[in-house]
Amino acid sequence: MQTFDINTGGHDWEKQNLTTQGVKKMYDLYKCRKCGITGKSYRLGTISIRESDIKKMQKCCPKQANTFKRIMVTDCKAFGDQFANITPGSKHDIVPPPIGQNNKRGEWVMGVGEPVLLLAGEFVYLKED
Ligand SMILES: [Zn+2]
Repeated sequence: MQTFDINTGGHDWEKQNLTTQGVKKMYDLYKCRKCGITGKSYRLGTISIRESDIKKMQKCCPKQANTFKRIMVTDCKAFGDQFANITPGSKHDIVPPPIGQNNKRGEWVMGVGEPVLLLAGEFVYLKED
């Protein structure tokens, strides 16, 4: 175990236990919301990390941000029969761009009968549960 200042590495620590743990030595268990490493805090403002996690401790490396698979429509200005299911608040799986198209301007989702393109600003990405 090595002890660090809790601000080291830019981690987003979330307390895991509701009550303080430990018999002889009290501590709180923390987990980083972004990269998932865990640590124990024996003293406020510090965190103790397993030797094997020290490399990860130096800098928080969130898991690939590009793993979004679903979006929620916020404000779609496109119209047409194929956009009938693209209503504000509706959630859709991202589909690969049709042949000859790309997703540089937004994301493709399944409209009515065919994939449709939602432009950046018309949707938000949904985190996976
Ligand atoms: Zn982290």
